[in-house]
Amino acid sequence: MALQFYNTASRKKEIFTLPEGVPAVRMYCCGPTVYHFAHIGNLRTYIFEDFLVRTLKYYGYKVNHIVNITDVGHLTSDADSGDDKMEKGAAREGKSVWDIAKFYTDAFMADWHRLNIQEPTRWTPATQHIQEQIDLVKTLEEKGYTYRTSDGIYFDSLKFPRYADFARLDVENLRKGSRIDMGEKHNATDFALWKFSPKDKKRAMEWDSPWGVGFPGWHIECSAMAMKYNGPTLDIHCGGTDHIRVHHTNEIAQSECANGVPFARFWMHGEFLRTASEEKLEDGTTEQKFGKMSKSSGEFLTVTLLMDRGFNPLDYRFFAIGSHYRNYLNFTWEALTGAKEAFKSLHKKTDPLIGKATAITSEAAKAFQNEFKDAIGDDLNMPRALGIMNTMLKSDIDDGEKAALVADFDKIFGLKLDQPREEYAKKGANDGVDTAKIEALIAARKEARAAKNWAESDRIRDELAAMNVVIKDSKEGTTWSIKE
Ligand code: AMP
Ligand code: ZN
Repeated sequence: MALQFYNTASRKKEIFTLPEGVPAVRMYCCGPTVYHFAHIGNLRTYIFEDFLVRTLKYYGYKVNHIVNITDVGHLTSDADSGDDKMEKGAAREGKSVWDIAKFYTDAFMADWHRLNIQEPTRWTPATQHIQEQIDLVKTLEEKGYTYRTSDGIYFDSLKFPRYADFARLDVENLRKGSRIDMGEKHNATDFALWKFSPKDKKRAMEWDSPWGVGFPGWHIECSAMAMKYNGPTLDIHCGGTDHIRVHHTNEIAQSECANGVPFARFWMHGEFLRTASEEKLEDGTTEQKFGKMSKSSGEFLTVTLLMDRGFNPLDYRFFAIGSHYRNYLNFTWEALTGAKEAFKSLHKKTDPLIGKATAITSEAAKAFQNEFKDAIGDDLNMPRALGIMNTMLKSDIDDGEKAALVADFDKIFGLKLDQPREEYAKKGANDGVDTAKIEALIAARKEARAAKNWAESDRIRDELAAMNVVIKDSKEGTTWSIKE
């Protein structure tokens, strides 16, 4: 079967090949904004991109894989307003913005390696490519796509008639939308290419430009760095689905207006990791709702936290393999524990095979290999690929071939199945928690509820919440857990 990927641009699976004469896949992935730790949702997207890179290599392609580091302080909203994220991070921690960028870049790369994500061909920090961004804005200005307001240089989205196509946007409504704070923008879909520093304040990060001292708008870095390292047309551009509507739409507009050629042949987007939150219903019970894990909400889980709770980072990688990248993945501790157990039992089968690999010669073994290649080549169907590995391990092909196939498949899984399983010391979810007190409070709350004393039951609930205890009521009774 031919290698094929779902292309967000066409909303279809398409066969992937490289144009004649292109020596390596020209790939660009939107990287982290380094004002805080990456959460495991962000990392799910990078794990998906890692499966993609590994699959391209398995199919014999070289890959020029570029990942940017957004270390410039951008404004917190897509509408080019709000606080500067880096400056917020610096104020939170009493450090300089440059220290914040360095600290969180290092932390990000540590997580990247812990999850056994392959090193990209090149990391490209935005602050090291300011001139390239200025040059691109100059090109857009010369071609008549920009206008100036009192706070910056903006891209005029009306001059790009295809603006709405990629994200299938209802621009009519968007542009009419009165809720959007447009400032001096001509259209709601216009966006900043260069922002001026405020006149009364020196920003921690600012640069000279032909238009005045300031800093780049947050979309321009990706276009500028993608072009610098991969030319005007990419073969694959990746990111999370949240980037489709604004960030990638804007990247396309500015890149295609500057260069006059398609910006990317394939657009691939990873779906969200979601976490549960408790919603209180009118009858006093609660319901679990899953929503996107997000950095700005402040409620997010990190790889370090998983390790503190006794998980190997690769348990999380294994968890990510269990669902297709275009589906939501709902995170719960139970689900992660389930993945850890399944990964352990996989290790029980693969650990005894370490060092035993022979050549793959039997028809049965070759058939497993072909099936596996088809699965990963079918828009990265990792759950199916994992199923094939399990079936293969249960089959009666000999151990030497099994070992060789495990090593071959692990080129994609990246689970380090050539090494025995490493256990992490479990701190224990409930260490330091006064279980007796929690149980007593829950019993008291039950009594208060039976007496319809809602004020008392709410007070107890708040007391538990202050102890970081989350309670869940159901027909079977009340259960509790410690909130992260
Ligand atoms: P950021 O650091 O916020 O720019 O995000 C880095 C990458 O993570 C981007 O490709 C986002 O689209 C992606 N992302 C953000 N939140 C999630 C999530 N909950 N699940 C999966 N990917 C996400
Ligand atoms: Zn980007």
